[in-house]
Amino acid sequence: MTTLGILGGGQLGLMLAEAAAPLGIRCRFYDPVAEPCAAVAGEHVRGGWDDHAALDAFAEGLDHVTWEFENVPVELVERLRARVPSTPSGYSLHIAQDRVREKTFFGELGLETAPWRQVDTRADLSTALEALGAAIVKTRGGGYDGKGQARASGPADGDAVWAALGGRPLIAEGLVRFEREVSVIACRTRSGEVVTWPLAWNVHEGGILRRSIAPAPELDPAVAAAAEHIGRTVITALDHVGTLCVELFQVGDRLLCNELAPRVHNSGHWSIEGAVTSQFANHVRAVCDLPLASTAMAHPVAGMWNWLGDVPEVLPSGPHLHSHPYGKEPRPGRKVGHLTATGATVAEVLERLG
Ligand code: AMP
Repeated sequence: MTTLGILGGGQLGLMLAEAAAPLGIRCRFYDPVAEPCAAVAGEHVRGGWDDHAALDAFAEGLDHVTWEFENVPVELVERLRARVPSTPSGYSLHIAQDRVREKTFFGELGLETAPWRQVDTRADLSTALEALGAAIVKTRGGGYDGKGQARASGPADGDAVWAALGGRPLIAEGLVRFEREVSVIACRTRSGEVVTWPLAWNVHEGGILRRSIAPAPELDPAVAAAAEHIGRTVITALDHVGTLCVELFQVGDRLLCNELAPRVHNSGHWSIEGAVTSQFANHVRAVCDLPLASTAMAHPVAGMWNWLGDVPEVLPSGPHLHSHPYGKEPRPGRKVGHLTATGATVAEVLERLG
């Protein structure tokens, strides 16, 4: 039996294992916490990201390795790669772990982003806010779900932003007045075959994804093609094997690249029931050297609603509703599960999501 090692054992690992089992592939997780939620779906090896002995025990007998957590140290991935040759390279992680590298990478590929400035000192911050006006200042690394971010309406807010974030490497981005947020998810095999899923329309609250609808409604075919081009360009330039996501701002018919997630992504969870093949199944296929399968919609429309904090007391169910509790301890703002609805129209799906 093939054994796939996964660095990180959160809900993304859980859903990867759920997609791997029907392919006859079992998963083993590496995670520092005592009881990661993916442990219900496979063996868990506990250890820190610098615990070489635990990592060696984890790597024993693995056929392939991948990750579901993007803050895995790049050196660790490269070290595992020497033992388990099929691990995707750490290059995607290297780019995605630093927002300045990420923005530079997009720019070098000719892809548009918000205007941005690197900020290392209080003086840099003043210069950036004078140039950009209204801005979002973010830590360059380690942030997620809107954490490590502060908004400024102009240079007058410099002191407050510096008090909140100063002393760490930062990036200031011009505030984009987007019409909506969308994301493109792509998957690539080692031989370079690329597939993309229909574009998702995403709504965030407080920097956290709340809802996704796919395909994004009223999508101009030219914008859909531009998004697909972005997905293909990014995944190919990274020589990435497996699934990744590029989060985008739509401004008229322009798409600005906001962020790269070098892994399966929350805005693709709808694909488990909404697409013929999910982002998880194709990721497992890609990293285990199996051919990719169809990313077409399995229903006209699919939508996903994130449960934050706690899951509902009675989990919704029905022919068009699919509950995914992650078995995580309730905590304010924490992603603890999601609900997927499918239907004939966007209105029907929105109504089913409640
Ligand atoms: P991020 O962590 O970069 O994905 O940011 C989280 C969320 O904050 C995004 O999904 C947007 O809703 C918002 N956001 C981030 N950067 C910008 C920006 N430059 N302009 C406008 N909104 C932004």
